[in-house]
Amino acid sequence: MTSSKPHALAQVQASIAEAEIRAGRPAGSVTLVAVSKTQPWETVAPVLEAGQRVFGENRVQEAMERWSDRREGLELRLIGPLQTNKAREAVGFFDVIETLDREKLARVLADEIQRAGQAPRLYVQVNIGEEAQKAGIAPAEADGFIAACREAYGLTVEGLMCIPPVDQDPAPHFAALRAIAERNGVGKLSMGMSEDFETAIAEGATSVRVGSAIFGSRAYQTT
Ligand SMILES: *Cc1c(COP(=O)(O)O)cnc(C)c1O
Repeated sequence: MTSSKPHALAQVQASIAEAEIRAGRPAGSVTLVAVSKTQPWETVAPVLEAGQRVFGENRVQEAMERWSDRREGLELRLIGPLQTNKAREAVGFFDVIETLDREKLARVLADEIQRAGQAPRLYVQVNIGEEAQKAGIAPAEADGFIAACREAYGLTVEGLMCIPPVDQDPAPHFAALRAIAERNGVGKLSMGMSEDFETAIAEGATSVRVGSAIFGSRAYQTT
């Protein structure tokens, strides 16, 4: 049965609304990105039917296969690592790319945006816990990287994104990401997942990326 999924969606929406109130933030100020990566369509369909319109995917190919025929009226966000050889497809397909994390990618995205005459909104991913296995620019390099994106490549950096270490209190990491955003004049913060989106909202998240709390556990993991 998939009928429990819209119920889970409603619960997440209610938790977001409560977290907004607790944080003294306006109702509706946090965007819910439903992370549908690896989920079978019969799990995603009821959530779409329930009115969810913003979805996050980890892989360019998987996202295009799933969403190309039903793209209308949706906002699609790439939240997984982007290889430069997929940049052209990603620029053409996604509304938001949240994983800009290195100069080479900035350069290629700038070229593809120029070529396409359209730009997805861009978030810089920060490796906020400085974990060897995680993508993202190091916190100490974030200011310089954001400046390079803007000045050398002419990119507009709409937001910052992070995934804190799984085994630590996420709050200080969320606060650290917000501090980087504030000192660089970056307005949006993509932070918080199923386990910690309420904490992220308290720390200033403008969007949260929630997968398993909406759809149930994934058949396989991609990070
Ligand atoms: C998978 C994933 C999520 C969603 O994770 P859940 O714990 O299932 O909510 C969020 N952000 C990124 C970058 C992911 O890869």
